[in-house]
Amino acid sequence: AKVTRLGPSPTGFIHLGNLYGAFVDERLAHQSGGTFYLRIEDTDDKRYVEGAVEVIINSLKFFDINFDEGATIDGHIGDYGPYFQSDRGEIYQCYVKKLIQNGQAYPCFLTSEELEEIHAKQETGKENFGIYGKWATSRSLSIEEIEEYINSGKSYVIRLKSDGNHDLPSEEIKTISVEDGIRGTLTMPENNQDVVILKANGIPTYHFAHVVDDHLMRTTHVVRGAEWLPSLPIHVELFDKLGFKMPIFCHTAQLMKLDEEGNKRKLSKRKDPELSLDYYRNEGYHPAAVREYLMTILNSNFEEWRIANPDAPIDEFELTVEKMSNSGALFDLNKLNDICKDVLVKIPATELCEFMKNWSREFKPEILPLFEGHEEYIERIFDLGRDGAKPRKDLIYAKQIFEFISYFFDDYFKIEDSNPENVSPEDAKAILNAYLSSYDHKDDQSAWFDKIREISTELGYAAKPKDYKKNPEQYKGHVGDVSTVIRIALMGRSQSPDIWEIQQILGEERTRSRIKARI
Ligand code: GLU
Repeated sequence: AKVTRLGPSPTGFIHLGNLYGAFVDERLAHQSGGTFYLRIEDTDDKRYVEGAVEVIINSLKFFDINFDEGATIDGHIGDYGPYFQSDRGEIYQCYVKKLIQNGQAYPCFLTSEELEEIHAKQETGKENFGIYGKWATSRSLSIEEIEEYINSGKSYVIRLKSDGNHDLPSEEIKTISVEDGIRGTLTMPENNQDVVILKANGIPTYHFAHVVDDHLMRTTHVVRGAEWLPSLPIHVELFDKLGFKMPIFCHTAQLMKLDEEGNKRKLSKRKDPELSLDYYRNEGYHPAAVREYLMTILNSNFEEWRIANPDAPIDEFELTVEKMSNSGALFDLNKLNDICKDVLVKIPATELCEFMKNWSREFKPEILPLFEGHEEYIERIFDLGRDGAKPRKDLIYAKQIFEFISYFFDDYFKIEDSNPENVSPEDAKAILNAYLSSYDHKDDQSAWFDKIREISTELGYAAKPKDYKKNPEQYKGHVGDVSTVIRIALMGRSQSPDIWEIQQILGEERTRSRIKARI
């Protein structure tokens, strides 16, 4: 059984990458009968935002991501807590002490001016970043000297005493190899930096805190973004020095998108609203569709599985880390929208209606009365043209679904498109008048269409005349143009499902009054 975790920082911003990782964590744990827990990594108080934990939990819950253990909105559940890093200070300090006692960590008294000097030297020298043992003058202080410094009130951080040789040029540094769950064997230079593990305020850095926590919380698989790969050697050294068994690290691909020029680039918080999970909730994406789409970019064999199992619940798909992509995963909103259409066409109308109610309650309460009390009417609209060999697939997300539904309600109905250019205003009026006088709500679809054809012929909108080539101006248009005029009168737009079916839903009275109003 695998134990996985999500370790978000409560910055108030939860993004697609978090969800992507959470799907992997959730599947790995639950497929194996294991545990998935939530740990809040709130050691950086500068980034803390009030209410952020609630945002994290609720956003993930919306996408059907539930935790077995860990932080909750009002506390925590599980036996491996506390699950807020800010409550674990004493635990980290115990392990820091252990490292100091073993001579594997030390207090470093470098002042900010000295650090600046070192950085300046580094820019001109061979080394490019990080603090190496040779700079840290306090690395070899005696206990007495350390005590003296501390007693004189000098501020200090605790640094790891790295084993890596910091005098070698980078190409000669010893390499280590690590098995990554997604990427296979990674060969990397060993760590040779004395990184900070405990800050001057006594709070651990991410490097140290997550190593201690992942061990104590018996994590077997750490799924995290590729941005952590460069610091992996630091973590390997920390696990080793602390005497902890390493979990299996699975570094997922960065989410990328194609820019206007067709180049791949990372999704950015500033430029791409679709990076934020809030975006999907605001627009009203159905969680099942988002999940389905993320799965297609997660696992290369998902689409094949889906074709073979069109109706199977997504949880029956066995997610395997080995089949996950490790180069940039391309995120494409248009593809997501296509998948939404496929997913929504299969969701029963009653369920869709419920979904729309929940969405409007939260994001557009003024339209809630449309759904509450009109369930039957709405469900008939959803069922318009859904059956059959070529089902109608044009429902994408709640905001857009509302646009569509709104045309069936007089309060929201408005004319959006204009009549075809080749139909003169006089002809349009004549079409609608003829339509109104011949209208019989009881007509079946074929009787209805016969009438449309009749009107078209009478008004010169039928087949092209034989001498069309000689006198093209005599040809006004065809039956389709006549239908468009009627369609716009009824629906306000030139694209819509079948007119006859729409009228069955609108009912006789509303159909007649819309035609009249348009005339
Ligand atoms: N707190 C880290 C972040 O939000 C978590 C990284 C990890 O999963 O280890 O990026």
